[in-house]
Amino acid sequence: MKTDRRLIALRLLLGLYILLSFVLAALNQGTDEEIARKVAPWWHFSENELKTALILVCGFLTLSIRKQKGRISMRRANLIFLFLAALGIHILIPLVTGNPEIYFFAMPLPWTTLPLQAGIEHSSFFRSHQYTLGLDGIAWAITFFWVYSAFIAVGTLLFGRRLHCSHLCLFNGFAAEVFDPVIPLVGKRKQPSAKTLRQLEWVRYLFLAIALFFTIFWLGPAKYLSPQNASVMRNLELIWYLGANLILAMGFWVASQPRRYCHLCPLGTLLALLARLGNMRISTTKATCIGCKACDKVCPAAIPIMASALQGNPVISDRCVGCGHCIDACPQKTLGYETSFLTWISKRFP
Ligand code: SF4
Ligand code: SF4
Repeated sequence: MKTDRRLIALRLLLGLYILLSFVLAALNQGTDEEIARKVAPWWHFSENELKTALILVCGFLTLSIRKQKGRISMRRANLIFLFLAALGIHILIPLVTGNPEIYFFAMPLPWTTLPLQAGIEHSSFFRSHQYTLGLDGIAWAITFFWVYSAFIAVGTLLFGRRLHCSHLCLFNGFAAEVFDPVIPLVGKRKQPSAKTLRQLEWVRYLFLAIALFFTIFWLGPAKYLSPQNASVMRNLELIWYLGANLILAMGFWVASQPRRYCHLCPLGTLLALLARLGNMRISTTKATCIGCKACDKVCPAAIPIMASALQGNPVISDRCVGCGHCIDACPQKTLGYETSFLTWISKRFP
């Protein structure tokens, strides 16, 4: 069988990106301030310019690979928006503001509390950034954070989880779309069993509880604690963030599924609740579904779509990230992505 060079290139680039991220994160977050200072520019380069270039190059490779198997309109839209998001958050805003870590401020709560820490004068995040950004720079970044968070909350109510999780997420969403054909790097992709999915539901709410605990801490008690005690919490949170989020997500890229981290993501869990309020669903048409299971096979969230389609019922699931892979895969064009707002728009402007 002829080897597809695009797949080899994608695998190599994903492997290198994971390796580089691990090494730079370990050096940058280590206790030695001198090493962290020297590593910081490389860390910023990897997180900004390199990541944006990867989204562009690997996005093209992924689209050309997936194009051979059928429609790619939803995937194409995901990749275009993710590239534009990277261009804004990783390149343009850092250039204009001189803040190469603005991406921390484009991660709505409860994912990371760094924007909250930035507002507390005795926090280590504030102290390490006040010289590079100045007080105005910090205030600007915090304002950006709250405006961006409000945009994501209202946008998810109107457009569903697709807005953030498939168009803007530069944490796991981007990798799940950009490197989709080569995840996992090792072994074959398997849909999880019903038992595993039940267990993941528990872990997901545990993750949300831990993330909310740290959020509440930085919103309230942190202001009244001594710098030493606050820094104990900061270190605990760093271990939680790097271990249970960054390393876990990358571990899933190596040996599991592209969206497995999304099953656990605290922000994703909150966005799922907002999407539910906005009536996000995958619409189905009973008359045209031929029961081929193409949708079930591609769903990265392991949602049983065909069973609902055969009944003509909409698919409503908190695990749905709105990626639209099922919609592209359906040979009958039976599926659609809907929210109350999108339905209203399409009726108003047919
Ligand atoms: S669930 Fe979390 S990690 Fe996944 S795409 Fe959404 S926000 Fe990003
Ligand atoms: S149901 Fe469709 S849109 Fe939702 S996660 Fe699965 S493939 Fe993506």
